[in-house]
Amino acid sequence: MAFECPSCNRPLYNRRRDTCEFCGEAVPEELLLSPKQQAALDKLKEYHLRRRPSSGSGGDGWIAADDTWWDAGDFGGGGDGGGGGD
Ligand SMILES: [Zn+2]
Repeated sequence: MAFECPSCNRPLYNRRRDTCEFCGEAVPEELLLSPKQQAALDKLKEYHLRRRPSSGSGGDGWIAADDTWWDAGDFGGGGDGGGGGD
């Protein structure tokens, strides 16, 4: 399932934004991450940050400051409401 801007049909790389990165149009609420999903992402990120190797052998910045890749995939897949899984 892809999340695309209904105005320009480009992928929504960052579904925390309520406007499209490309055309600036408002993104429908149902395409945005819910606060719960955002919290889950933050938690996941924190978990990975904590696991950052302490050896520091050139590994500095192994997780990019730009966090958009966290949102690039279909997170949770709960957006369409048809899951019925939980
Ligand atoms: Zn757009």
